[in-house]
Amino acid sequence: MAETHEFQSDIAKLLRLLSQSLYQNREVAVRELVSNASDALDKYRLLSLREEDVPTADDLQIVVTPDAEAKTLTIADNGVGMTHDDLIENLGTIAHSGTEGFSQGLEGNDADSLIGQFGVGFYAAFMLAESVEVRTRSYREEGGWKWTSAGTGSFEIDQIAMPEHGTEVVLHLRDDAKDFADPQRVEYVLKRYSSFVPHPIRLAGLSSDGEPGETLHVNDQPPIWVEPKGSVTPEQHRQFFGYLSGQVGANPLWNLHLSLDSPLEIKSILYCPPMNPELMGLGRAEHGLHLCARRVLVQSDCDKLLPEYLRFLYGLVDSSDLPLNVSRQALQDDTVFRKIRQVLTGKVLSRLSKLAENEPKTYQEFYEQFGTTLREGVATDNVNRDKIAELLRFRTIDAPDEMSGLKAYVEGMKEGQTQIFHVGGRDAEAVKRRPTLEAFTARGLNVLLLTDPVDEIVLSTLDEYDGKKFVSVESAEADLPPLPESDDEKDDRPEPAAPAGLEAVLGLFREALGDETEEIRQTDKLTGSPCRLVTPGGGLSPQLQSVLGANDK
Ligand code: ADP
Ligand code: MG
Repeated sequence: MAETHEFQSDIAKLLRLLSQSLYQNREVAVRELVSNASDALDKYRLLSLREEDVPTADDLQIVVTPDAEAKTLTIADNGVGMTHDDLIENLGTIAHSGTEGFSQGLEGNDADSLIGQFGVGFYAAFMLAESVEVRTRSYREEGGWKWTSAGTGSFEIDQIAMPEHGTEVVLHLRDDAKDFADPQRVEYVLKRYSSFVPHPIRLAGLSSDGEPGETLHVNDQPPIWVEPKGSVTPEQHRQFFGYLSGQVGANPLWNLHLSLDSPLEIKSILYCPPMNPELMGLGRAEHGLHLCARRVLVQSDCDKLLPEYLRFLYGLVDSSDLPLNVSRQALQDDTVFRKIRQVLTGKVLSRLSKLAENEPKTYQEFYEQFGTTLREGVATDNVNRDKIAELLRFRTIDAPDEMSGLKAYVEGMKEGQTQIFHVGGRDAEAVKRRPTLEAFTARGLNVLLLTDPVDEIVLSTLDEYDGKKFVSVESAEADLPPLPESDDEKDDRPEPAAPAGLEAVLGLFREALGDETEEIRQTDKLTGSPCRLVTPGGGLSPQLQSVLGANDK
C-alpha cells in the first residue's frame, strides 16, 4: 500500500520556484543528481572498507540513460541506497546542506539568479521533470522502495522489489525539457559538469563511435590531481593542460602539483602556459581555476582563488573542506576559500623561486612572458612583497644581456656601497655614456638597467631590498663610496678645493636657470664631464617623468 506524505512547507515553495526556473539553469539538475549518485558510491566504498559484513564492490558506477520514447532520463547508481525512513528524512525535509543554503538565500532574493549560483540538490530534478520516481534499495535491506512525486506538495512511498542495492532516479521529462532525452545533449552536460567525478559515468544509448545501443564512458579523463605526483607523466600533464586551457598539444612551461593535508586538505595542479596572451595584445587572462569539492566541480573559472598577479595560471583545486553547494558570493567570503588562496599563493611563489634556482633558463623564459604580470604583486600583495622581490630580474650595465636578481646584485656590491643604484634606458652602451653614470663606472659600481619604466615604479614601491635603498643614479640622494685611488694618483692628487672662479660660474648658471632649478652646486662626482643634472631627493627620475607626462606642462 502506498503511503502519502506532505513535503515540508519550505520544500513546497522551493519546488514551485524550480519548476518555473530559467531554461539555462536546468543543466545543473543533472549535475546535482550525478553528484548525489557519486556521494552514494563514496559512502558505499567507505562502508565496505570499514564494515566486515559489507562486501566490496568493484563495479561502483553511475549509469545515465536517456530514453526518447519513454521521455525519461534515468540516473542510476549502485551505492548505499535508502531505507524507507531515509527517503522521508532525505527527500522530504530540508535539513541537509545544499537545499538549506538555497532556501536561506531565497529570503528577499531573485530566485532565478540564485538557482544558477546555488546547488539546489535533489529537488533540482523538478526543473526537468513533471514527476520524479526514485527507486532505491539500501545496502542494509533485502527489499526496495519507490518514492514518487509530481512536485506538488506531497510524495508517495511504496514497497518494490529490487535486485541490488543502489538508487535509480527516473525523471519523467516535461515537454519543454525533452532535449534531456537526447544522448548527445546529455553527453554534453555530463562532460561539462561531471568530467572529474571519481566514479565512472556511463551513458547508455551512445557508444564512442556514436552507435546506439551501447554505453559510453563519459568521464574517462583520469583525475590526475588526486594521484601521487611521481606517477603523473608529462603526457598526462600535457593533456590535462590542454583540457583546462584549450591549448591542445601545447606543453605548459611548468606545473605545480600539490597534495596537502594541512592546514587544509587540498589537491591541486596548476599550469603555467608557454606564452602570455596579454603580451600579444589579446586582453586580460580571466580564465581562473576550476574549483572542486571532492572531485565534483563547484565552480569553473574561479578567478578569486589566486591573486590577480598570478591570473595567467590554469589549473584545478580540489578540497574536501569546501561545501559543494554554496553561492559564488558565499564562497568568496568563506574562510576556507580565503585560506586556499593564501596557501596556493605561497606555494606558487616558492615554486617560482625553486624554478629560478634549479632551472634558470626556464625561469628566464617564464620571466620574459609573465614578469610584467608578476611584478604587479609588489604593489598589491603586502604579505608576499619580499618573496616577489626575490623573483624580480633585471639587466645591469655590467651584464646587459643577462637577467639577474637583486640578491646577485647585492652580493656584487662594492666596499662602502650602501645603496642599490638604477638607471632607466634600453641600450646599456648609450646609458653608460651619460655624464651621470661617470661617477658610478669610475667606482666600478654596477647599476640596474631598467628597460621598462614600470620597473622604476616597482622599485620605488619596494623602497629597499636587504636593507639597501633603491636610488636612481640621477638622484641627489645617491651616496657614492670614495673613489678607489690608483697608486700614482695617491700622492699628487689635488686637495678637493674649489677651483678659482667657480663661484662666479655657478652664479652665472643660477642667474640663467634660477627658476628651473632647485639648487646649483659644486660636485666631486664627475670625472670627465663638466656638469650633470640630478633630481632632488624623493623626485622622479627623468625617465619616469616622461612616462608619467610630468614634463608636459
Ligand atoms: P545533499 O546532497 O547536499 O545532501 P541533496 O538534496 O542533493 O542534498 O540530497 C539529499 C539527500 O538525499 C542526500 O544527502 C542523501 O542522503 C540522499 N540521496 C540523494 N540521492 C541519493 C542517492 N542517489 N543515493 C543515496 N542517497 C541519496
Ligand atoms: Mg546533493
